[in-house]
Amino acid sequence: MYRMLSIDLSSGKIEERDISDIFKKFIGGSGVLTYLAAQELTKELDPFSERAPIYFALGPLNGYFPSMSKTVALFKSPLTGDLGESHAGGRMSLAMLSANVHVLRIVGKASQPVYLSIDGDRVAMIPCSSLWGRSALATERILREKEDHRKGKKSIVRIGPAGERLSPIACVTVDSSRHFGRLGLGAVMGSKNLKAIVISGSECPKIENKKAYQELYDRIFKELIESENTYKYRDLGTAANVVPLSKIMGLPTRNFSQGFFESAHTISGEYFADHLLAQQISCAHCPIGCIHMGVFRELFADPHMYKTLKTSYDHELIYSLGSNLSIAKAEELLKIIHFVERQGWDAISIGVVLAWATEAFQRGLITLEETAGLALNFGDAETYLKVLENIAIERNEFYKDLEKGVAYCAKKYGGEEFAICFNKNEAPGYMTGPDAFVGYAVGVRHSHLDCAGYSFDQKYLGRAEDVEKEVKAMYEEAVWRMITNSLVMCLFARGVYTPKTVLECLNVVGYNLDEQSLDRVAHTIHGMKYIIKEKLGFDFAKLNLPKKLLTVYTSRGKMNEDSFKKRVEFYSKLVEEDKELALRAV
Ligand code: SF4
Repeated sequence: MYRMLSIDLSSGKIEERDISDIFKKFIGGSGVLTYLAAQELTKELDPFSERAPIYFALGPLNGYFPSMSKTVALFKSPLTGDLGESHAGGRMSLAMLSANVHVLRIVGKASQPVYLSIDGDRVAMIPCSSLWGRSALATERILREKEDHRKGKKSIVRIGPAGERLSPIACVTVDSSRHFGRLGLGAVMGSKNLKAIVISGSECPKIENKKAYQELYDRIFKELIESENTYKYRDLGTAANVVPLSKIMGLPTRNFSQGFFESAHTISGEYFADHLLAQQISCAHCPIGCIHMGVFRELFADPHMYKTLKTSYDHELIYSLGSNLSIAKAEELLKIIHFVERQGWDAISIGVVLAWATEAFQRGLITLEETAGLALNFGDAETYLKVLENIAIERNEFYKDLEKGVAYCAKKYGGEEFAICFNKNEAPGYMTGPDAFVGYAVGVRHSHLDCAGYSFDQKYLGRAEDVEKEVKAMYEEAVWRMITNSLVMCLFARGVYTPKTVLECLNVVGYNLDEQSLDRVAHTIHGMKYIIKEKLGFDFAKLNLPKKLLTVYTSRGKMNEDSFKKRVEFYSKLVEEDKELALRAV
């Protein structure tokens, strides 16, 4: 049985529901949440209202197969007003499975700061005013110690002070350095006075055909550890992408002014590994182990008293807080990342905001009066740390505004043409060309993870544009990701989990599907998402490229506005059929 646990933080009411039918129909994860949230997410709904739901779900293969290690969250985004969806690793999906909770729904608002404790069947809202104001890292330490007595896998999901301040670019941190990073889930939790969720249990996955399961498991495990695609993530992590991207002019540098960063080699995966790598860790049940922790020292008393700290780094952080701010020293970059981690901001978003602020300052749109005397210059790590401190203490109106996202800031202070966001969501770390940018614009989450446009750009590098062929390929990838996101697999394992392997796995855990029915489910979920998005105000016809991106060189040369428009239009036509399918299916 697939079980949904629904908790109302206002009334304290807890309900359980058997959702086996719809969970199976939409293959769990992102699919089932899209179906469940469809009625609740309306244009009028304030993302911070008590009625606004937060959903978490796992997929049918979490806990059964390796690298099926993620959890998906669905909510109304306070950043975009659109559908909010974010995925995180860590131990959460295993802990949910152990607690026999396949979908967790949270509504309401607690009367004081609380954390939600779920330990198998025992559910409690525990007052935690003393945690309010504590960093995302301190909160985890305190709760891990407090809840140390629990048996089984325990996951600690929490917000930092940014979420408490309702910053729409606040993330939710899960266990060690994993995040529901994008679209402001941290603020939605903050609006509910929900500082954290601690979840654990002792249920074990059950398998009927043990022999077939074991054979399949062993085959997948072997492929995951031997595959060339996953080796790169284990070896250097996603930071392996930094130098290759810079070499093809695809690494955003100084607020997307160029794709080549002259100091890429000093903030590269190779540099970190050789000089600062302290530890490699993994999400639960993942043999890839892509999480890389770098070490740095911080002076805590003059003249020579230091503490040694660890923080995780990856490609997106190196781009947003490194090359895009022209930070060339890896140790300085780790300090900035660590500050962001403690506050609980989406690292991509806050980096894009800092880059916009720097350009706005240099163009005179903001002055020393707004910045309280700080002169913003690319490459100046010390000043960026002061800016982040000023945001954290809400020093003045300007600093308060900075954590509202780049679209908000540009609308208020000017500089919309160089505010690098798509549908108000700050752009990820690839300026490889039209497929990347169109992917950010049209994607369900406005993320590089929707369809990996950046990899299509690299495939077509040096070739003439073929609009329809490229868009069709991106669309097909986006549709397939409805399945990977419903299984809530780690996308780094996607090369191993082909459609054929996914079907074998599903059949072993009791699903009776063939390729055609899987494809139909994928298109239906894709259609449902765009129906919700359009209900919330998303409109393909209103999508634009930030003007600056029409003037700079990407890996595939200069962008062309007509090509962008044509691509978006073609994509929107492809989506129409999925919407019709979704309307017939639900
Ligand atoms: S590859 Fe990395 S992010 Fe993905 S599940 Fe494994 S450790 Fe987590």
